[in-house]
Amino acid sequence: MTDSSRLCLCLTGPTLESDLRLLEEYRPFIGLAEVRADFLSAGEIASAARLPRLAGLPVILTVRRVRDGGRFAGSESDRVALLRKLAAGGFAFVDLEEDVEAPGLEADIEAGGGRIIRSMHDFSGVPVDLAVRMRRLARSPRELPKAAVMTRGTADLAGLLDAFGELAGTEKVLLGMGDCGFATRVLASRLGSRICYSSPPEASAAPGQADPRTLETLYRFSRIDAGTAVYGVIGNPVMHSLSPSIHNRGFAALGLNAVYLPFLVDDLAAFWTVADSIDIRGISVTAPFKEEVLPALVRRDALVEALGACNTIIRGRGTERGEWEGANTDVEGFLAPLREAFGGAIPRGLRATVIGAGGASRAVVHALSSQGAEVLLLNRTMERAGELARRFPVSAAPLDERAPALAHEYSSLIVQASSAGMEPDAGVDPFPGYQFSGREVVYELIYRPHVTAFLERARRAGCRLVFGEQMLLAQAREQFRLFTGLNLPPEAFGPHRENIHETTP
Ligand code: NAP
Repeated sequence: MTDSSRLCLCLTGPTLESDLRLLEEYRPFIGLAEVRADFLSAGEIASAARLPRLAGLPVILTVRRVRDGGRFAGSESDRVALLRKLAAGGFAFVDLEEDVEAPGLEADIEAGGGRIIRSMHDFSGVPVDLAVRMRRLARSPRELPKAAVMTRGTADLAGLLDAFGELAGTEKVLLGMGDCGFATRVLASRLGSRICYSSPPEASAAPGQADPRTLETLYRFSRIDAGTAVYGVIGNPVMHSLSPSIHNRGFAALGLNAVYLPFLVDDLAAFWTVADSIDIRGISVTAPFKEEVLPALVRRDALVEALGACNTIIRGRGTERGEWEGANTDVEGFLAPLREAFGGAIPRGLRATVIGAGGASRAVVHALSSQGAEVLLLNRTMERAGELARRFPVSAAPLDERAPALAHEYSSLIVQASSAGMEPDAGVDPFPGYQFSGREVVYELIYRPHVTAFLERARRAGCRLVFGEQMLLAQAREQFRLFTGLNLPPEAFGPHRENIHETTP
C-alpha cells in the first residue's frame, strides 16, 4: 500500500496556466496541491478560484503575507476579502494564520466545503513551548493545526522532534524549515504530520523543501510508514552527498522498508538525541565527525582503533538505546578498486605516493601499509604530514617544487587524497609539477567532479585510472552489509554504474 495523499505540491507560478503545467508535471507523485495565490500576478489572482475544478485533486488555498514568508503586500482587509471570494471556489483546505480575526470568514470557508488549516510560522527557530502552542492553535475541532518553524541547527531539530513526541496521536501539520529539518519533511507520515509540502527544484516555496519527484523516486515517500527503518549520513556539509542515492536504491531493489537521509549536523551531542527520537538504525559518518563520534561508541572495530576514525555506526547488538558500535569501511573501500586495477591482487612492495594528509589519507596510508607498500606522503602543510608519519610507517615530505622528483621514486601508484580540485574549485591541480610517465596507476579520491584536472592529465598520459566514485561505492557496499546484513544489489549503483564501466581499465 502506498500513501501519496500527504505529498503536496506548492504552486508558485505567476499565472493559472503555469500552475496547471506544474501540476501536470508532478501529478504522478502528489496527492494534493497548494495554490499560493500570493505568487499569482495581480491580473491572475482571481483565477485561483478555478483551480479546484481544474486540478482533479484536493487543493489548499493560501494567501501568505510578507511577514509570514509570502508575497501578499496589500492590507489585511484586502486579503480577507480575497480569501472570502476565492474560498467559494471549492477548496479542500484554506490556510489561515493564527492571528487572523475576520468575523464570519471561517463560517464562509466551511460553507464552501473547505477545512481550515490554522497555521503559525516561526523563522527565528523552534519555540520551546511549540507543543503547547500547537494544542491551542485550532479554534474548533474541525481545524487542522500547522506549524512551520525554522530548524537553524541540530538542537532545533531535537526540540522539534520532542514536540512531535508530545503531540503523538493528534492530527497536525508540523515541519522544520531549512536543511537541518529535512528529515521532518521526508518522514512526515512516520512522524505523524498530515501534509508534506514540496516544490519544483527551481521554485522552492520555503527553505528546505524538496521536489516531489526526488521525494518519491529517491526516498520512496509514499511507502514510508511507522515501521520504516531509518538510516542516514551525518556531516557538514552533507546535503549533496551521493550516499542517499546509493543506499536508497539498494533498499528499493531489495524491497526493504527502509530509508536513508542526509542529516546536516552542527552539534553532535544534539544529534544523538535526534538519533534516539527517530530510532535511527545506522549512520554513515563523513567530515568533520569521523573522530568526534569516537567517545559515543561502546564498541569499535580494529580499524577504528588503528585509524582513530570511524565512518560507520550501527546500533549496538543487545544494548540499550543510545549505545552505538563503530566500524571503518574506508580502508576496504579504498582497497577493493585498487585490487581491481591491479587485476585482482595488489603487488607486494608497491612504491606509492599519497598527496594529502587529511582524514581520508589516514585510511589510504593505513590500507597501503597493510599491503606492504612503501609510501611517500606529500602534504602542503608539513606538520600534518609529520603527524601521520609518526603514526604510520611512511616517509613524509612537503608538497613543493622538490616533490615531483621524490614522487618519481614512488610512482607505481599515485593517490590523490587531498581536497584540491573538488567542486567548486574543479580547475585546481594539486601537483602540477609532476609529469606522468603513463606507467602509473593513478587513484583520485575526489568524486565531484567525476574527472578532476589531475586525473585528466593522467588520462592523457595513458595511466590506468581509479575514480573516487569507485571508492565511494566500495565503502558503501561494506556499510550496507553492516546496516542490513545483505549485499548491496547492483541496482544501487544506478547512474554511477556506467561511470565505473567507462573508467575501469
Ligand atoms: P581534509 O581532512 O579536509 O583534508 C584535506 C587535505 O587536502 C589536506 O591534506 C589539505 O592540506 C589538502 N589540501 C586542501 N587544499 C589544497 C590545495 N589547494 N593544495 C594542496 N593540498 C590541499 O579532507 P579529507 O576528509 O581528507 O578528504 C579529502 C578529499 O577526499 C575530499 O575531496 C573528499 O571528498 C575525498 N574523499 C573521498 C572519499 C571516497 O569515498 N571517494 C572518501 C573520503 C574522502 P593541508 O593539510 O595543507 O591543509
